[in-house]
Amino acid sequence: MTTHRAILLAGGNRGDVAAAMTFVEGLLSERAGRVTAASRLYESEPWGFECRNRFLNRAFVVETALGAEQLLDVTQQIEREAGRNGMAEALERACTGERYASRTMDIDMILYDGEIIDTPRLTVPHPLFHVRPFALRPVCEVAGDVIHPVLGRTVRELCREACEAEEAERRRAEACGGDNEKPLRLWDDDLDDLSI
Ligand code: AMP
Repeated sequence: MTTHRAILLAGGNRGDVAAAMTFVEGLLSERAGRVTAASRLYESEPWGFECRNRFLNRAFVVETALGAEQLLDVTQQIEREAGRNGMAEALERACTGERYASRTMDIDMILYDGEIIDTPRLTVPHPLFHVRPFALRPVCEVAGDVIHPVLGRTVRELCREACEAEEAERRRAEACGGDNEKPLRLWDDDLDDLSI
């Protein structure tokens, strides 16, 4: 039986997200395969929309016999069982006019072996992963040496660059008198031992 290594990123900002992460990990183990690593929880500001609730993210490495789209079926079902409600999200987007909405649980497939996948349902590597510090940090913790199959760079390199760019932007905003000074941070620990 062929085993694949998938890297998933789970995140949410509504309800008890930390408890939902434990629920997600249990269901991944039951339905997708062996969860060989899970990052700590990382807290971050909402990306791309205004919202009071901060996000929590956790990366999972899963060894699976499932094909990529089968795995997507499983993760989408788990999102629903963890309380994701597409109607509530659509309603929030309609009310706020924002592109994104709060959610209880979103699971993105970041990488699937070293494959490049582009189908109507699935784009892997996840198209915005490499520019999003909130995604790179947890994935770096569990898969820093993995090479991004399109960019040919390790996750650790991409993470360092994105974090530096974020920090430069924060300093620039600060110099301009903005209050954009809340760095992304670990939920339950500090960043010292991340080695990025
Ligand atoms: P989201 O609202 O972020 O959960 O986006 C879900 C939609 O993105 C679904 O229609 C998926 O089929 C699609 N999608 C495309 N690529 C991916 C990916 N790498 N991981 C998760 N969903 C994906």
